[in-house]
Amino acid sequence: MNNTKSNTDVILIGAGIMSATLGALLKELAPEWEIKVFEKLPQPGEESSNEWNNAGTGHSALCELNYTTEKPDGTLDISKAIKINEQFQLSRQFWSFLVNSNLISNPQDFIMPLPHMSLVQGEDNVDFLKKRFEALSINPLFKGMEYSKDPEKLKEWIPLIMEDRNTNEPIAATKIDSGTDVNFGALTRMLFDHLTKQDVAVNYNHSVKNLKRTKDGAWEVKVRNIESGVTETHTAKFVFIGGGGGSLPLLQKTGIPESKHIGGFPVSGLFMVCNNPEVVAQHQAKVYGKAKVGAPPMSVPHLDTRYIDNKKTLLFGPFAGFTPKFLKTGSYLDLIRSVKPNNLFTMLAAGVKNMSLTKYLIQQVLLSNEKRMVELREFIPNAKLEDWDVVVAGQRVQVIKDTEAGGKGTLQFGTEVVSADDGSIAALLGASPGASTAVHVMLEVLEKCFPQHMNKWEPKIKAMIPSYGLSLVDNPELFHEIHASTAKTLGLNGNEQTDN
Ligand SMILES: Cc1cc2nc3c(=O)[nH]c(=O)nc-3n(C[C@H](O)[C@H](O)[C@H](O)COP(=O)(O)OP(=O)(O)OC[C@H]3O[C@@H](n4cnc5c(N)ncnc54)[C@H](O)[C@@H]3O)c2cc1C
Repeated sequence: MNNTKSNTDVILIGAGIMSATLGALLKELAPEWEIKVFEKLPQPGEESSNEWNNAGTGHSALCELNYTTEKPDGTLDISKAIKINEQFQLSRQFWSFLVNSNLISNPQDFIMPLPHMSLVQGEDNVDFLKKRFEALSINPLFKGMEYSKDPEKLKEWIPLIMEDRNTNEPIAATKIDSGTDVNFGALTRMLFDHLTKQDVAVNYNHSVKNLKRTKDGAWEVKVRNIESGVTETHTAKFVFIGGGGGSLPLLQKTGIPESKHIGGFPVSGLFMVCNNPEVVAQHQAKVYGKAKVGAPPMSVPHLDTRYIDNKKTLLFGPFAGFTPKFLKTGSYLDLIRSVKPNNLFTMLAAGVKNMSLTKYLIQQVLLSNEKRMVELREFIPNAKLEDWDVVVAGQRVQVIKDTEAGGKGTLQFGTEVVSADDGSIAALLGASPGASTAVHVMLEVLEKCFPQHMNKWEPKIKAMIPSYGLSLVDNPELFHEIHASTAKTLGLNGNEQTDN
């Protein structure tokens, strides 16, 4: 067959963590299916999934304050925290399955144990944190969480943050040792190595330009080979659009009714990275603060120990900002090109509703390094400008759509699987909680697009992911078993849950 034309079972667009995860799942469930991947960059995991482009938090709601909200009666709603924690356990189980089956190895190259902490200042925030601690620490999923407002205890936990700190204002923190730092870039590369060994044809430097439904219900995908300049035509029964920020324009090209009235709002990011090994050595945790009033949830500041290239490092941020690009390697015309007659009013409504957010993000972009240091000094009071460099993080394209609750042009902060009603194509939009919940989201793609196979696949899914379809909060014994066994397989020593 001419290699500019092919017919296959599955096409995955984009070589990020999402396509990697879906490919790895499908290889187990339907090993006989032929899979092709098209990625416009020369390597996998170079956009949002790259280790320098995201914060590497294994999101399981152990420290992120925005996953627990205060209800009007003053009690806390912890349902979102439980949901995200349970979703992360699915990822841990699938990764453990891959390690135990020798399909990937050296888990320490992509996941490390790391305490997750929340830190707040001011009386109201301290009260909120105490309430959050009381609600979560009695829940099996959050067992082992500790709380303290004693500056001496906090000095033990976070010496770098407490050094030279004025403690006139109340301060408090929670700490839980079962948190993780995940190098999603390394994991993505490992998964693509595995897929390549399983005869998946991964085509780098191939940019998908168009998608068209064929008469028999399959999809014809036009792909430009960037090296040769030749446009290829590949047909597949099922297509997954895992283009990260680049998913929305491709979804729009499908013309499926589900792609209409949806827009994207790009949010850029910056991290500060510490270049002084003495400072890096003094910190050992992910410490999440509270978002400033008016700031979007994805700009919650945090000071994170990270493990990148087997080296411990220290990152602060992200500082959210605004650029009209949908990918870091995208075009300044991305946003304007995504405005179509069918989403014009949705986009205009979103523009009007989010004036103050856009203003905030533009102000953030214009911050000088000295101004960024002011925010960093809220975490490290004696931080020195010369110890910190700036790195540009990935783009997050938030979904804009019309909702019953929010009305026209509502900005969504979660991820969203959009699929055709016949299940022949699906796209992933949005970016939060993101890579941590890749396994949960890709299982959702399978459920939506392959309902006819789910009965057959379920025993295998359960063998790989024993908690699939079960609530862990209602099955604490199972949770305990899964948490302990995945900690062992993934080498997360010290990550076992402990009683206080
Ligand atoms: C600042 C920041 C912090 C974050 N922090 C965290 C965190 O702490 N924890 C967490 O779990 N998640 C985090 N995330 C979210 C997480 O990074 C993303 O959800 C995840 O990486 C998305 O993976 P993906 O595979 O969908 O997209 P990507 O990794 O962006 O991959 C998409 C791929 O598709 C390719 N592509 C796009 N268009 C085309 C086309 N037309 N043809 C061919 N290829 C194409 C791109 O080149 C890219 O390689 C963060 C994100 C950002 C930006």
